[in-house]
Amino acid sequence: MILIILCVVLNINYHINVMRRMEMKDGTRAPVSNNGYFGGEQISTSKFSQLLASSHRDFLLSPTGAQVKVSELEGKVVGLLFAANWYPPCRVFTQLLIGIYEELKTNNPHFEIVYVSSDEDLDAFNEFYKNMPWLAIPFYDLETKKSLNRKYEVEGIPCLIMLQPSKVDDATTLRHGVELIYRYGVQAYPFSNERLMELHEAEREKRENQTLINLLANNFRDYVLSQTHTGLFTQVPIASLVGKTIGLYFSAGWCVPCTKFTPKLISVYEKIKQELTEKGDNEDFEIVLVSNDRDQESFDSYYNTMPWLALPFGDPEIKNLARHFDIQGIPCLVIIGPDGKTITIHGRNLINLYQENAYPFTKAKVEQLEKQLEEEARDLPILVHHVGHHHGLNLVSDGNGGGPFICCVCDEQGSNWAYQCLQCGYEVHPKCIKTVHVHVHGP
Ligand SMILES: [Zn+2]
Ligand SMILES: [Zn+2]
Repeated sequence: MILIILCVVLNINYHINVMRRMEMKDGTRAPVSNNGYFGGEQISTSKFSQLLASSHRDFLLSPTGAQVKVSELEGKVVGLLFAANWYPPCRVFTQLLIGIYEELKTNNPHFEIVYVSSDEDLDAFNEFYKNMPWLAIPFYDLETKKSLNRKYEVEGIPCLIMLQPSKVDDATTLRHGVELIYRYGVQAYPFSNERLMELHEAEREKRENQTLINLLANNFRDYVLSQTHTGLFTQVPIASLVGKTIGLYFSAGWCVPCTKFTPKLISVYEKIKQELTEKGDNEDFEIVLVSNDRDQESFDSYYNTMPWLALPFGDPEIKNLARHFDIQGIPCLVIIGPDGKTITIHGRNLINLYQENAYPFTKAKVEQLEKQLEEEARDLPILVHHVGHHHGLNLVSDGNGGGPFICCVCDEQGSNWAYQCLQCGYEVHPKCIKTVHVHVHGP
């Protein structure tokens, strides 16, 4: 990840350098006029002109090829899109933004986007821009593009800077447009601080009023799927799940860490179910697959391996749930309590640390488990020799050289206690250690 960001920064620097070089080569630049006049017309000194026009250009490109005067942006909410065709996340984001833009434009004539390209050459720019329905700074105007990159301190792309019509200043400029679009879609409009506060407030309220029904059901569906032994789907009413502890399992068959975690989760799920049956009270636990599979066939074959429930493939609530819980990566196990409120979004980590003992995943239970772990760790040897590693491993904890890690044996996350190689960083869960005796030979 850091590497990718570095590449982008380096690439931007590369492009800035290219821009500088091209500028020097290009001795034929139009003369800079100092009198504020352009072709006999006075340039508007409004804020958008200062930002987006230059001394010899008062227009922007439009998809039809026509020139659009910068002054036509006055009074509009304007997004500056910094992107480049050579970077895949830009292509993904642009595709998403096109849908949002078209939806917004039908209701809001006072909205516009301007593309500020970091493409490597004119052909690449044309190729990328031809899909975009919004305006653009002409590719050849390196000076303006450079000064916008500098003004908004663009460090990575894609970057979407949202400007308010009232005034272009730091207080009203939103720099995290990309994140807002991913998180709220068209809802983020008009991208003002007030609107963001409303959205945060609505999210807080939604979280407070969260129930299993309003999480999983919608106007068209009040059930989730179950699977018979013959692979047929049956419907289970969501109402019948109310009062249970529910795990929402965000996962997909194409994701390798998911397919590694799923068998572990199945074994833990079956043990929890069995313990609850033996206990015989009203408590119950269920898991619902929230699949990110790419087609019905992959969904069917992945879900076929699982003993629990599922949202139908491609259901619109899947996106809403991912947004609601701010899912950053899969696999992810969100735990909902019997009251319909979120207990934790770190169910996967708790399963890795404590297996079936993690149930019911509550804060009190986790504190109790942590204490237990602490006590057990007291009896652990401080140095072990582990099968498959030629250095000795030292017992470390959060406060003493340790911290969150990925176990080199089971490939899962860990925190708190670990056995760590001080020489090469190799780290293993205490439960994953298989000790070997090291024979020390005499001289
Ligand atoms: Zn492990
Ligand atoms: Zn080592």
